[in-house]
Amino acid sequence: MKQTPENLLASYVDALRPIIYINHFDFEAVDDMIEKISDGARIVEFNNALGCINFKNKSPMSECTLIEFLKHCIEDDARADFIDSAVKPNTFIVLKDVHDSLNDKQVIALLRRIAEFSINNPVFRTGPVFIVASKTVIPVELENYITIFDIPLPGNEEVVEAIYKFIEDVNISVSDEVIDDLALSFKGLNKFQIRQILTLAYQDGGYIDAGDKQLILQEKEQFIKKSGMLEIVNFKETIQDIGGLETLKEWLDKKAKIFQNLDKAIKFGVDIPKGIMIVGMPGCGKSLTAKATADLFQLPLVRLDIGRLLGKYVGESEENMRKALKLSEAISPCVLWIDEIEKAFAGIGGAGGGNDVTTRLFGQFLTWMQEKESTVFIVATANDISNLPGEFLRKGRFDELFFVDLPNREERRKIFEIHLKKRRKWNKDLDIFSLVEKTQGYNGADIEAVIKETIELAFIEERNILTTDDIKAVIEDTKSISETLKTKIQKIRDTVANMDIKTASKPDPTETKK
Ligand code: ADP
Repeated sequence: MKQTPENLLASYVDALRPIIYINHFDFEAVDDMIEKISDGARIVEFNNALGCINFKNKSPMSECTLIEFLKHCIEDDARADFIDSAVKPNTFIVLKDVHDSLNDKQVIALLRRIAEFSINNPVFRTGPVFIVASKTVIPVELENYITIFDIPLPGNEEVVEAIYKFIEDVNISVSDEVIDDLALSFKGLNKFQIRQILTLAYQDGGYIDAGDKQLILQEKEQFIKKSGMLEIVNFKETIQDIGGLETLKEWLDKKAKIFQNLDKAIKFGVDIPKGIMIVGMPGCGKSLTAKATADLFQLPLVRLDIGRLLGKYVGESEENMRKALKLSEAISPCVLWIDEIEKAFAGIGGAGGGNDVTTRLFGQFLTWMQEKESTVFIVATANDISNLPGEFLRKGRFDELFFVDLPNREERRKIFEIHLKKRRKWNKDLDIFSLVEKTQGYNGADIEAVIKETIELAFIEERNILTTDDIKAVIEDTKSISETLKTKIQKIRDTVANMDIKTASKPDPTETKK
């Protein structure tokens, strides 16, 4: 049998799960689903705003508190007349938007009693209790009774169906090609959101075409902004702004062909790349590459800060992670950038041990990566990975691991050129060769800082042209990363020395590293 959300929910009910937590904002869709699987059971509903209401027509039945309502549910006596008669066995209890009351000890105790009764009386049971809310709050005392039910997002077929339904309803014609194309952009959104966006697009011009992808993206950005869990990164950098890292750039160039023609690629049977991990020296272009990748793939760049997901309640961090990952799927196709990933996951499983929450988050993230079929391309960046758990780096998780070392001669030449040209100070009289020689052990950020400083000095001293000596003088005054972070650099090199990792740069045989 096809695994539909209804089937899954019905299987939870059949398995006597006493409390089923449905985190969703589209209450109508959830009601539909509960009704479909109720199989004749009575359904009683408590709504945070209106008290006890009729599940079918939503008319208020009695203004009562959640505690009163729950008490009546377990008392099973005739006094419970406000629920039109006593709660009989085989009654579904639906609680809407009650998440804020789930910290109340009495509410917890009552829910626990209902849950236990339901487990111990499988034939004549009261329950399950469905908690439907747009936020998940799981009290520790109820952890073992609660099952979280996630309404899966519609698959491609369902999205296409939803688009057809919409264009039929408004009576317009849209080519199959446009529909397929839009369906791909809609991936990750629920039917409610899809309809909302289609309505907006339609109202705008009375038609729907491929140009509406931009609208979908804008709307997705809105969801992201509201969530506060992910950040849309605005950037100007392109692949041409990266000096060196040629092997990495060539690799990305190939994958770009897939992302730029995603619909065709999927139809052709291409596996969608999962992502890359870029490890190495600070200030050498890792973040730059994350941005340039989004530009190259023509996708939005979304940053995930794992530290921001940590919450103070039990299960809150996991819930945030789940939401953040779901959101990234909602904005997909996109590039999901996880900066300094070692800071979030270092020490897990190692001697020091990460804490329980981060260990769980890590497991959650790995599973997501493993199972992910979405078009989210991950760019994880890290300086020192000596404390990262081995599972993370195992082949198959990321499509490729790249090591970014300090720039070699040719790369430094390119970096000088890029930053001088960017500031319109490139001139052919500059002896770049001697500057390159003088900056062994400098990273890209050091070189950029040298250029900036020289230009500033020239401006203050009212000189229009930079000379090689001006730049050299600043180099002499600038400490390179190799001096300031000597031990750290060695540690990074030692860690990757024993790893199966690709070097991001093309080799420069003329140079021996410091
Ligand atoms: P990290 O590797 O620590 O993420 P960044 O990518 O943020 O470092 O680099 C910091 C800045 O240094 C960049 O914004 C860029 O201006 C400059 N830079 C670093 N590496 C390069 C490079 N390979 N080519 C050009 N500029 C670079």
